Amino acid sequence: MSAAAATVTSSTTGGCEDRPVLRERGQHSVFCGLTGVVWLHRKIQDAFFLVVGSRTCAHLLQSAAGVMIFAEPRFGTAIIDDRDLAGLADANDELDRVVTQLLERRPDIKLLFLVGSCPSEVIKLDLSRAALRLNRQFAPGVRVLSYSGSGIETTFTQGEDACLASMVPVLPQTDASQLLVVGALADVVEDQFARLFAAMGIANVRFLPPRNSGDLPPVGAATQYLLAQPFLADTARALEQRGATRIAAPFPLGVEGTTLWLQAAADAFGIDPTRVRAATDMPRERGKRALANYRDRLAGKRMFLFPDSQLEIPLARFVSRELGMQVIEAGTPYLHRAHMADELALLPAGIQVSEGQDVERQLDRCRDARPDITVCGLGLANPLEAEGLTTKWSIELLFTPVQGYDQAGDLAELFARPLVRRTRLAV
Ligand code: SF4
Repeated sequence: MSAAAATVTSSTTGGCEDRPVLRERGQHSVFCGLTGVVWLHRKIQDAFFLVVGSRTCAHLLQSAAGVMIFAEPRFGTAIIDDRDLAGLADANDELDRVVTQLLERRPDIKLLFLVGSCPSEVIKLDLSRAALRLNRQFAPGVRVLSYSGSGIETTFTQGEDACLASMVPVLPQTDASQLLVVGALADVVEDQFARLFAAMGIANVRFLPPRNSGDLPPVGAATQYLLAQPFLADTARALEQRGATRIAAPFPLGVEGTTLWLQAAADAFGIDPTRVRAATDMPRERGKRALANYRDRLAGKRMFLFPDSQLEIPLARFVSRELGMQVIEAGTPYLHRAHMADELALLPAGIQVSEGQDVERQLDRCRDARPDITVCGLGLANPLEAEGLTTKWSIELLFTPVQGYDQAGDLAELFARPLVRRTRLAV
């Protein structure tokens, strides 16, 4: 949670999209980028995430990871204590000692991320230099990278962006034509997309992040990349510095989003539309059938989305166009105009898009609107529930496989379930 002077302005997205956007700068309620460790450590199976932070950071990770108990966890916290803060100990020496102990005990670790936090930034501990130093010591067996998960003026999905961006400089070089899908996806979703791309005739498809650090995808001037997540601005910039070009598309949420996302890749690789249809007809129909059940239950329900995950605009597009829901406000922490252009073009008129947050003003708008369901961060959910509003934690959208045709029904279910629970409680 951080505070700044409150200002409210209204503007437009510019370009061909002329939708008014409410811009707010004020107190905001978000989790920090450390949260990304919880899903990233599951994805990259030989990586370890060492957060260099305080006991607060350790508690956040522990509670975000929930009830999961690991015999050999693949994340941990090197605690910066009072001696480090007072400058009585050399934090770099302490860090080297902790890393050496960890790597001696855990030969399964092949990629180590040093993850910065607010405290490590406050004491100006330079983790990029620490990573270089430790790399020299432990290469080639272990690669050491660093990124910041600090909560200073960031939001929780930026942790993934910073992590993936830190990997881009060490990706091998290639001149081969290839499709690179960027953004952490559940393995089951990644496998489905890999099968669909193969059936469509796109032969050379790689994913970032990989499941294994030994399988880093190469990148180069003939790489076209497709974002699977909407919060990867720094990673996209880093890939473009390596020569890759972005395939513009909406995001693969819902049947329509998935179809347009796959279609954009097919167009970029010159694939015949009949081949795309042949590959996608069956899963698309399955997805539509799954959504039909939820449309009956959710059509006409009113939704308010607080800015948290950066998935809000694609979600607003999905629930309004495919489920018939009425979105009152779709808030986003940041609005990346280029990455969001295809989404904004599909978003029905009448939905208030807001960027940034002045949480008290936004809470007032939400209370006035009395939506049927509010999508928000954990910090706002309990107070709103206590006021009788039904909420959905936006963080669940990152912990649950929601992309692609076969997950479209599961995505709708995430919004249907709290409404059913509220109805039962009311009986
Ligand atoms: S990184 Fe900052 S915001 Fe996140 S848990 Fe640590 S102190 Fe809190």
